[in-house]
Amino acid sequence: MPNSIRYFVLGAAAALLVARPAPAPAQTLARTEQRIRDAAAADAQAAISLLERAVNINSGTMNETGVEAVGMLFAAELRALGFRTSWLSQASVNRAGHLVAERAGRRRRGRAAPIRLLLIGHLDTVFEGEGQQFVRSDSTASGAGSSDMKGGDVVLVQTLKALASVGALDDMDVIVVLTGDEESMGEPASISRDDMVRAARRSDIVLSFEGGDDSTAVVARRGSSDWVLTVTARQYHSSGMFGERAGYGAIYEAARILNDFRAALEGQPYLTFSPGVMLSGEKVSYDTTMMTGTASGKTNIVPPTAVVHGDLRFITAGQMDSARAVMRGIVSRSLRGTSATIQFGESYYPAMAPTPANYALLAVYDSASRALGYAPVAGNDPARRGAGDISFVAPILPGLDGLGVFGRGAHSPSESVDLTSLPKQTARAAVLMYRLARDPAKTRRMLTPR
Ligand SMILES: [Zn+2]
Repeated sequence: MPNSIRYFVLGAAAALLVARPAPAPAQTLARTEQRIRDAAAADAQAAISLLERAVNINSGTMNETGVEAVGMLFAAELRALGFRTSWLSQASVNRAGHLVAERAGRRRRGRAAPIRLLLIGHLDTVFEGEGQQFVRSDSTASGAGSSDMKGGDVVLVQTLKALASVGALDDMDVIVVLTGDEESMGEPASISRDDMVRAARRSDIVLSFEGGDDSTAVVARRGSSDWVLTVTARQYHSSGMFGERAGYGAIYEAARILNDFRAALEGQPYLTFSPGVMLSGEKVSYDTTMMTGTASGKTNIVPPTAVVHGDLRFITAGQMDSARAVMRGIVSRSLRGTSATIQFGESYYPAMAPTPANYALLAVYDSASRALGYAPVAGNDPARRGAGDISFVAPILPGLDGLGVFGRGAHSPSESVDLTSLPKQTARAAVLMYRLARDPAKTRRMLTPR
């Protein structure tokens, strides 16, 4: 066979291979999506330098000047994309403030209104980072907030830039809320999370850019609530213990209650509760805010007082309610000579329940990731993720978290970020948002519980 024919036959075979039935459309990138991916990759250096500038502004939660300065840095980036930005002071709850930015998509006659996306992040860091700077070494960089979550904020901004570069930002309404106090929230939450909750009520979907990894996105976070158990009893000589007049004392009663809590509720999936601090004896003082106190007593008394401060973590509001009801019931069945009360929820984070709508969003994210040639993405194990800002709006609308950068050592002086995750997470979030916005009516149907 002449070479030319041989090559023709080989070429035809290759063409057949290429022409085999295409995978499901969602598993390949549309042309616009390829341009989105390329834009994210082309802007990778700009992303690193934006992150460097953000990390070099120390912004521990109580460093109000620093938190606001980081807010102004991102505000300028967002204004360049056509967002209206505002700085909402949180002086009334003794915190710096939040950055809120808004941009409306284009209304097209005869078409459904654009999908409304709420994108959230935070400006503050746990570790103050005093004097620490952004230090890059090859594909890793360290510095306070580099991964939790200035890196995620950069992904958020870069995602919007990538979408804008292909004109797709006009197909969605976007509200960005970057809080200044995620790591140590201003109390009460009814004030400090009011702006975020209002934004959620005007949105269809919330996407949060806390730290992520290759193959997981967050569809559920457990909520948490604290509780304070206070037991009082008759003070009596210890020789009368268990008797008609002395009763059992506050310590036996507290022990009974805690053991009954465990016996009644241990083992429910995703429900945990831990008595973190306990003080008891003759005289007790306890500060629930500082979680510190003193106790004194004697060995020859029936002790009159006990205080226990603990947490309760749950996966749905219903689970929380029923656990609280069981606990109240146990508290009310006092041993002789004692009485007890329990108070819930001085500090409270709602649960982000693993709803079908969250899983529907995850499916779109997973398809975007695969189409980009990255790993499949599964939902997280709710037991492994604590509460976050998204928890405050998750009861209002479907959402996904963990769209931020990959990193290590969050909340510590050795925090670092994998810089290769910046363009990667940008591309994944941008294709996700593009797919959600392409057909708003279909997206809304997908997210409506049947
Ligand atoms: Zn965080």
